[in-house]
Amino acid sequence: MGDQPIQESLLEAERGPQTGMQLITSMLEKLLQADDHPRVVGIGIGSTGPTDPIQGLIVNPGTLPGWVNVPIVSWLEQRFQVPACLENDADAAALGEYWQGAGKGARRLYAITVGTGIGTACIIDGKVYRGAGGFHPEGGHLIVDPGGPACYCGGRGCWESLASGTAIAESMRRQLGKQPGADLPNAKAIAEAARQGHPLARRVIESAAESFALGVFTVLMTFFPELIVLSGGVMRSYDLFQPAIERALQDASVYLPVERVQIVQAQLGYYAGIYGAAYAIMKRNHDGLSA
Ligand SMILES: [Zn+2]
Repeated sequence: MGDQPIQESLLEAERGPQTGMQLITSMLEKLLQADDHPRVVGIGIGSTGPTDPIQGLIVNPGTLPGWVNVPIVSWLEQRFQVPACLENDADAAALGEYWQGAGKGARRLYAITVGTGIGTACIIDGKVYRGAGGFHPEGGHLIVDPGGPACYCGGRGCWESLASGTAIAESMRRQLGKQPGADLPNAKAIAEAARQGHPLARRVIESAAESFALGVFTVLMTFFPELIVLSGGVMRSYDLFQPAIERALQDASVYLPVERVQIVQAQLGYYAGIYGAAYAIMKRNHDGLSA
């Protein structure tokens, strides 16, 4: 499956659950019409959150208008007569890396995706760590600076409002004294300028890297995973973040044997979530549903 049909389905999803579900159903039907299609043992779904993986509901994501308590799992199970399951997309991507990517064999894996926001997931012995009721903890809204910029969640100085790609572009905008919405370089261009020694770009990236490292420090103190898997567009500039992360590891070494922690880049890119959703349904068929 290429990128195109999936991108298309995302656009359609914005038109509400009826249209979105019709599109998902017709995509699956098309796959099943092929003469050589493999035997289907189940359907795994990774979706933007909040999701309720226990009830199989897409709850009410800000990015999917109208998708309020959509019972996607029972719809697909009834239509296709196979088991289905739903995972938060960050959990699905982390499971994919655990199964087929950078996280193979890691007993305690913490995944951090830094793109337009910051997504986090924790995989312990091959299972998604779930919060109460099965809900996914939102690591991107750890507060790293109570006096920091406002976050869309209503808080201030959240990890993602200081260190995501959006935050880097916003920080540059503020430094330049421009109005919100002004046409400005994106995080990738700012990272490139920083690498070439542009002083303002360097300041912006160094500040984002310091904030990012504070979040990593909190992850180390809270979970102390042996593997941290980094992904997302911003982490393609990992070299610019590395010095701050190394200082965070050094700070944590007062309490923890940080030499046991490995920090690596994800390997599966966009496909991590697809592998992870497949792994989730195979695992659920085998072990049953766990809250
Ligand atoms: Zn927030």
